[in-house]
Amino acid sequence: MIKKIEHLGIAVDDINESLKVYENLLGTSCYKEEIVESEGVKTAFLHVGESKIELLQATNSTSAIAKFLKKGRKGFHHVAFEVDDIDAELDRLKKLDFILIHQTPKDGADNKKIAFLHPKSTEGLLVELCQEK
Ligand code: ZN
Repeated sequence: MIKKIEHLGIAVDDINESLKVYENLLGTSCYKEEIVESEGVKTAFLHVGESKIELLQATNSTSAIAKFLKKGRKGFHHVAFEVDDIDAELDRLKKLDFILIHQTPKDGADNKKIAFLHPKSTEGLLVELCQEK
């Protein structure tokens, strides 16, 4: 079951510069910074009520964020839905012909198991499913 919008992912060039903007915008401070080596990203999280903003900066030129930015598409990158059972949700969505980028969940930032759905099957939206570990 999908429970809520857990966070919105925002692709940025320089996480420290962007944090200044988002901390001012939201009137709050970043509560966690984390590097996810497997994804080639540095992340920073800010609370927005019950949801979060995740800033993402590439740590190498082959990361998905680097490729995204190279296309000139800075800013909104993905929406993350919190689920209660990520394996069951992947199974359910696969049966409905959604295209899974990750067939099985992997370790993500912020103590989560995550998996992405391909935008081709979601009307152009990059969707992340996440479940608290
Ligand atoms: Zn995310």
